[in-house]
Amino acid sequence: MPEGPEVETVRRSLVDVVVGASVQDVWQSSLPLRMAKPQASLQAFVGSTVVSLERKGKLLWLPCRDNTRSDVRGLLVRLGMTGQLRLHAPTDDVAKHTHVRIVLQPRIGTVQELRYVDPRRFGDVAGYHDAATLKAQVEALGPDGLTLSANEVLAAAAKLRTTTRALKEALLDQRWLAGVGNIYACEALFRARLSPWRRGVSLSPKEAVCLVECCRDALVHGLEHNGTSFSDYVDARGATGGALAHLWVFQRETLPCKQCQQPIERRDQAGRSTFFCRRCQHARPTSR
Ligand SMILES: [Zn+2]
Repeated sequence: MPEGPEVETVRRSLVDVVVGASVQDVWQSSLPLRMAKPQASLQAFVGSTVVSLERKGKLLWLPCRDNTRSDVRGLLVRLGMTGQLRLHAPTDDVAKHTHVRIVLQPRIGTVQELRYVDPRRFGDVAGYHDAATLKAQVEALGPDGLTLSANEVLAAAAKLRTTTRALKEALLDQRWLAGVGNIYACEALFRARLSPWRRGVSLSPKEAVCLVECCRDALVHGLEHNGTSFSDYVDARGATGGALAHLWVFQRETLPCKQCQQPIERRDQAGRSTFFCRRCQHARPTSR
C-alpha cells in the first residue's frame, strides 16, 4: 500500500509532464472506485490546464485552471491499497483494471496519457470544484510526516502522550501525522526501540519526541530509496522502489534482526501485520 514516500515518489515522477499540461480528454470505466461510491464525471476538466501537483500525506491533488473560467479547481487522487498512477503513450496497450485515462498535452513533447490502474478499487480519482472542498480534505490530515518542522514534532509528541491507544494504531491515524502507513509505522517503532503495544500515555516526553522523529526519519529513508515495493507499488514510469532491502523489520518475519540477530516476529494488530523485534523493542517504559 503506497504511503507518504511512495506517493511523493509518484508525484516527483509525474511533475515534469503533468504541470502545465492541458487536459484534452478524459475516459472513465463504469466501475465504482473507493469501495461502492459511483464515479463522478471528470468531463468538466477537459480543456483545463494543470497548474501544479501537490501532496500531503498520501493525498495527491492537481489544481487546474479552466481557460474559460478563472477559478482554480482540480483533481484529488488517493492510491488506496493497490492504485497506480502511470504515464503512457496513447497507443500503449491498456492494462487490466485501468479505471481512468486522462489525455494530456504537455507544454513540451508529445501527447501522453495519465492512467489510473487499481485492481482492488480502494483508491479514487475525484474532481473538486471549489477551494473549500480541497481545504477540508487537506486540513482533515495531520502535518505531513516527511516535512515535519521542529514545532510540529513537539506538538505531535505531546498529542501522542494523551492517547490510550497502542502506539502502532496511533501512528496509523492520518489525523495525527499524514503519510505513515503500516510499513513506516513498524519501521519507526523499531527505530525508537518501542513495543508496538505500548500505550501513548505510557511514553515519557523524551520517548514521544524520539518516536515522532523516528517516523519522520523512516519516511525520509523510504523516499531516499524511491519507496518500498513488495506488491503493487511502482512510480509513474513503472519503476519499483528500492527501500525494502534496507528496512529493519517490515516483511522480515523469521529473518534475524539487523541489530541483535533475534528472529523478527509478525503478529496481527488491529487487522494489520505488525513486524517487530522482541529483544530490541521494549514493552515497558525505560525512563520517565
Ligand atoms: Zn533486535
